[in-house]
Amino acid sequence: MSIKVIEDSCNGCEACVPACPYEAISVQDGIARIDLDNCNLCGACVSECPFEAIVIEKETTHLRSPSDYHGVLVYGERTSEGIHKVVYELLSKGRELADKLNTELAVALVVNKEFPTKDEIIDGIIARGADTVYIVRNEAFKEFLIEPYTDALVYLIEKYKPEVVLAGATSEGRSLLPRVAARLKTGLTADCTGLDINEDGLLVQTRPAFGGNIMARIICEHRRPQMATVRYKVMEEATENERKGDVVIEEFVPRIPQTTLLQDVLDETQKINLEDADIIVSGGRGIQDAKNFTLLQELADLLGAALGSSRPPVDDGWIPYSHQVGQTGKTVRPKVYIACGISGSIQHLAGMSSSDYIIAINKDSDAPIFKVADLGIVGDLFEVVPVLIKRLKAGSS
Ligand SMILES: Cc1cc2nc3c(=O)[nH]c(=O)nc-3n(C[C@H](O)[C@H](O)[C@H](O)COP(=O)(O)OP(=O)(O)OC[C@H]3O[C@@H](n4cnc5c(N)ncnc54)[C@H](O)[C@@H]3O)c2cc1C
Repeated sequence: MSIKVIEDSCNGCEACVPACPYEAISVQDGIARIDLDNCNLCGACVSECPFEAIVIEKETTHLRSPSDYHGVLVYGERTSEGIHKVVYELLSKGRELADKLNTELAVALVVNKEFPTKDEIIDGIIARGADTVYIVRNEAFKEFLIEPYTDALVYLIEKYKPEVVLAGATSEGRSLLPRVAARLKTGLTADCTGLDINEDGLLVQTRPAFGGNIMARIICEHRRPQMATVRYKVMEEATENERKGDVVIEEFVPRIPQTTLLQDVLDETQKINLEDADIIVSGGRGIQDAKNFTLLQELADLLGAALGSSRPPVDDGWIPYSHQVGQTGKTVRPKVYIACGISGSIQHLAGMSSSDYIIAINKDSDAPIFKVADLGIVGDLFEVVPVLIKRLKAGSS
């Protein structure tokens, strides 16, 4: 976008000067002058000018012709064990979108030369709905590093021109996709909880906005591809079927110099991964102090559960952010979720309400968590949890 003053229309009235929040406008020789270094194109001056003498022009040079773009591409995030399960979730949604668009579904794997081109990972991806698996190969892709991976994905997208690109809203997806979108000068909706195709064939990307109080439905009308990261555990995993697909190998040398050196990978996660846990014991502000998490940890250990948290304990430094459940934390879907001293705010529910069975322990019988709980215990968690621990210990001895 660019901004300009139409000098024939401007009469130097100065109405635009106070309208600019960035103090980027002055009137010189009876004409408004805009300091482009400070202007951020917010448009406040445009609406304030009584003479329509300031205009913002949208450049169309970077717009891509939507008809040149076809197909849905899923970024195939890998883990040390194989493929991240969010990819299987994206395959189920991606297949649905591709069918609605009457187009193909592909997965992009960025790997090093040792990665086998025919193995159960690739078979599993095809069996779960992919028509094509693109394998971008180079020594630089051994571990996830942001610069070469961005380069690889941009290369693939520019070559095959998918109309939709999806990745998990994991740490990797959240760092990779914004960079790819910026390089391609297209839009990206982060952290989606729903995806669909509208009557115009556009991707409708749903995500919570304004603190979770509304669900925004976002479209990317003019630029391509339409890109979204999707929360892990909000969509169903694709199931395996007898299918055939193609494997396309791309040997690619990253073009941008690498400025990051990976020295070591530290496993900071807890014993049981929160997102994959069958049982989660979670503590909220009602836990009162960091040291009281040991009580919940004891219960979690007896149940083989992972330890979760609402946001206040994380904000207060009682427990690391990796344990946070909710809109700005993780989305979880365990078989059993035990909420201890958690009120049940909309932002917390956004991350755990799909759990199969919710048990809430809260001393306030009006706490909103009881509205979603399958089993509610009104009581002091410091009395209830020790009883549970005692019973479990008695049962196991
Ligand atoms: C943009 C945005 C994003 C957010 N993201 C998240 C998020 O990802 N996750 C999240 O959790 N929150 C998030 N929040 C914060 C959210 O709005 C709530 O403030 C938060 O969830 C409240 O946490 P809580 O239930 O632990 O605390 P509180 O609401 O203070 O509730 C504490 C509960 O503990 C009970 N209690 C106290 N003592 C005891 C006891 N001894 N025994 C039993 N019960 C007891 C009380 O009755 C109360 O119900 C977000 C907020 C915003 C604005």
